[in-house]
Amino acid sequence: MTFKELGLADPILKALEAEGYENPTPIQIQAIPILLKGKDLLGVAQTGTGKTAAFGAPILHHMYNLQNGQKGKRRLKALVVTPTRELAIQIGESFTAYGKFTGLRNTVIFGGVKQGKQVSALRNGVDILIATPGRLLDLMNQGYISFRYLEFVVLDEADQMLDMGFIHDIKKIIAKLPPKRQSLFFSATMPKDIVALSRKILGDFEKVTIRPEQATAEKVEQGVYFVNKPNKPGLLVHLLKERPDDSVLVFSRTKHGADKIVRKLNQRDIKAAAIHGNKSQPQRQRALGNFKEGKLKVLVATDIAARGIDVEELSLVINYDLPNVSETYVHRIGRTGRASASGIALSFCDSEERPYLRDIEKLIKQEVPRMPEHPFVEETDEMGNKPEQRPRQPQHRNHNTNRNSNNNRGQNQNKKRNRNRNRKRF
Ligand code: AMP
Repeated sequence: MTFKELGLADPILKALEAEGYENPTPIQIQAIPILLKGKDLLGVAQTGTGKTAAFGAPILHHMYNLQNGQKGKRRLKALVVTPTRELAIQIGESFTAYGKFTGLRNTVIFGGVKQGKQVSALRNGVDILIATPGRLLDLMNQGYISFRYLEFVVLDEADQMLDMGFIHDIKKIIAKLPPKRQSLFFSATMPKDIVALSRKILGDFEKVTIRPEQATAEKVEQGVYFVNKPNKPGLLVHLLKERPDDSVLVFSRTKHGADKIVRKLNQRDIKAAAIHGNKSQPQRQRALGNFKEGKLKVLVATDIAARGIDVEELSLVINYDLPNVSETYVHRIGRTGRASASGIALSFCDSEERPYLRDIEKLIKQEVPRMPEHPFVEETDEMGNKPEQRPRQPQHRNHNTNRNSNNNRGQNQNKKRNRNRNRKRF
């Protein structure tokens, strides 16, 4: 299957070719024909599947055909609402890339920065607006944004928007949408409240599901290390030092935890930066920019901040903490092995996180391979039981060499027993 066979207009085909996209991804093969027919779409898919081009290319196609030959003021015709600033910026970059031969203009608006520049961009006229919910509502209320000519609406990463508490903003935005429109709704997961929300925006829709287990199992090599919490920093340093040239994204469950990891890495001469909600927008963008350019090899992120990270050369994801929501694991490891590339995702699992690992394995319908021995092996078995206390070697004050060598042999045998036990366990 080629993009040409999907029926996209020439300027878009040219742009996709310039991006180096040879063949459409599964979500693109399924979604583009539905969207070209003008139908609404419910997409159950995560970022990293080629979702942006799946909705961006057909929207640009329609808008290009609509504007063909027409001159005059730009009118806002397409709106994409997405949860994070990083995602918004990234989607904006994708629209710029896919639409570079169409003459269509997009702008991105998000909170956490002064609104002046965003307002002037809107005043100058845009065809496509990519926005986070809070700032969108704010500028709508101030009268800078009109939905009068809107024809295409995308609600992206709906589950994440709900998690972040945007439900009321989203409902207010939906209430203002013109009735005649093409609506697209994307979510990685479909719990009940998300289904209910999708019903509010979608009309006659078709559904496309790209199962996360397909995305992960096929492309990402996974592994899990059993390790005690206090040994996690040591294991992280060990793994990072083993691969100094790799771009590594480390996930932390909390913002505070992310800062702590960065401090520990810096102490061990590993350059790293954290991105999370407590960092200012310029700090986040600087860290992400350096990471994307390869100047910074290790980025430590919380789940929400990481949603927008799209780094082509990301070779390794490390789950420093296992997420308690299994779908989050799928999101995280989807950061590596994007589109056609393959990647590696390694997880640290301490005794408290064992139940999370079991849930994850149930969701992805496979066992995450246990990693072989490492210098920080946890002293518990998979059930979380501590191995029985080994009898201590009697302490001899006597410096008899034979005795000493016997002692050493005893200890070595103990070490060997441990190793074998670990080997069996992994
Ligand atoms: P997305 O899910 O839209 O964030 O896309 C994930 C990554 O895949 C981005 O780096 C895209 O540039 C890339 N991508 C999207 N579609 C294709 C394609 N058909 N072929 C190769 N790469 C693609």
